[in-house]
Amino acid sequence: MALLPFNIAKQKKIKVVIIGGGYAGMATLITLARYASDTSITIIDPRDQHVKTTHLHETFRYPLEDILVPFHDIENRFGCRHIKASIDFTCQDLHRFQEDRRLIVDGEVFDFDYLVVTVGCRDRVVEESHEKLLLKDFEATPGSELITKILNSSNQSNPSISVVGGGATGIQFLFELRFFLNRINSETTLNLVHSKGRVLELFPASFNDYVQSRMQDLEINFYPNCYFYQQQSGQIQLTNRLTEKRFALPSIASLVFLGKEMQNNLSANAFGQVIVNHQVLPNVFTAGDYSNYESIGSNARTAQAAVRKGKLTARNILRHAGFPGLLEPYVHQDLGSVVNLGAHDAVGWLGTRSNLVTGISALAIKEIVEAQYDLMLSGVDTYLV
Ligand SMILES: Cc1cc2nc3c(=O)[nH]c(=O)nc-3n(C[C@H](O)[C@H](O)[C@H](O)COP(=O)(O)OP(=O)(O)OC[C@H]3O[C@@H](n4cnc5c(N)ncnc54)[C@H](O)[C@@H]3O)c2cc1C
Repeated sequence: MALLPFNIAKQKKIKVVIIGGGYAGMATLITLARYASDTSITIIDPRDQHVKTTHLHETFRYPLEDILVPFHDIENRFGCRHIKASIDFTCQDLHRFQEDRRLIVDGEVFDFDYLVVTVGCRDRVVEESHEKLLLKDFEATPGSELITKILNSSNQSNPSISVVGGGATGIQFLFELRFFLNRINSETTLNLVHSKGRVLELFPASFNDYVQSRMQDLEINFYPNCYFYQQQSGQIQLTNRLTEKRFALPSIASLVFLGKEMQNNLSANAFGQVIVNHQVLPNVFTAGDYSNYESIGSNARTAQAAVRKGKLTARNILRHAGFPGLLEPYVHQDLGSVVNLGAHDAVGWLGTRSNLVTGISALAIKEIVEAQYDLMLSGVDTYLV
């Protein structure tokens, strides 16, 4: 279906506004710029930079700047305009956007032919405190700096730090933190707290076996079936999910990764057009983690799926603008998935979920996927679909 024509003559130069400059927003923008360079594109995002979130845990090893791409550079590279703003909208607003084809930001009017909503998923709300580190803290300050500050402000010779959440994000941060502590010769004890009996429960069971054996090698304490209750006064308070008993462990800080909010995502048809109250909005598209397509394609909250949905959205906008009626359905399936376990190890699947890959092979797959995304950001699109 990707062979359906989309770089066809349009009746006029089109205007596209993209809300959200993450993976899906970038893929939409770059695909539009590639196939219809006369498209007027405005990208609205409250940040100054596009964040390559899939590298966030690596800021224990690399400077934060390595994973930030200033929107100013994106503007120069792809001839678009970045507006630094956050857009709040309701279902009624989306209907209004479809009717009026106009958005007003800080008093400036943006007329558009198509609107694309790619605002990602919000993290689960966790009350903030100086002993807790959340994903957003790592977007502002490198992991190495955050942990060094916490260790320096502790007067304990053998402190403990906890990572809460045994999903892909928690596990990737856990291993990076372990190796960082080893590198700085810290005697810190590391705990992993998870609400389920095994880690990475959304992946095949073999992932859990591999990760748990590596955790044992690295002397990471595992507390399964425990709900995080609080981190304060040098302690982490937990509730055992099975016995419902509350208990505490010494812990000077907790890195808390409870996953994403699943509510309020936008429904879309198989072409990426938003559906509100059972009504399709033909000029309002959505892509990425925030979207849920009614199709056989993958709605996984991954950068891979976000890029594929973003690219499909751009192609369908061009088709809709030039040849209404013949849109391409979303059928992408993830070809694999890899979880990093520090700089030298990883666990993943390739092709089928039963095909486990570990170590160098898994790392190589991840490198290729990341390199392909970096190439796209630099203007060289090597994605086949
Ligand atoms: C540590 C970590 C590692 C990961 N590793 C991998 C991996 O290896 N492979 C993989 O496939 N996936 C990975 N993921 C998941 C991946 O990062 C997400 O699936 C991906 O970022 C989703 O892209 P998106 O464009 O939908 O949202 P995002 O990348 O989150 O972008 C959303 C953008 O919208 C902006 N925004 C938010 N609200 C508004 C608003 N109201 N108005 C305007 N703009 C707004 C934000 O500032 C942001 O720039 C990882 C995630 C994390 C946290």
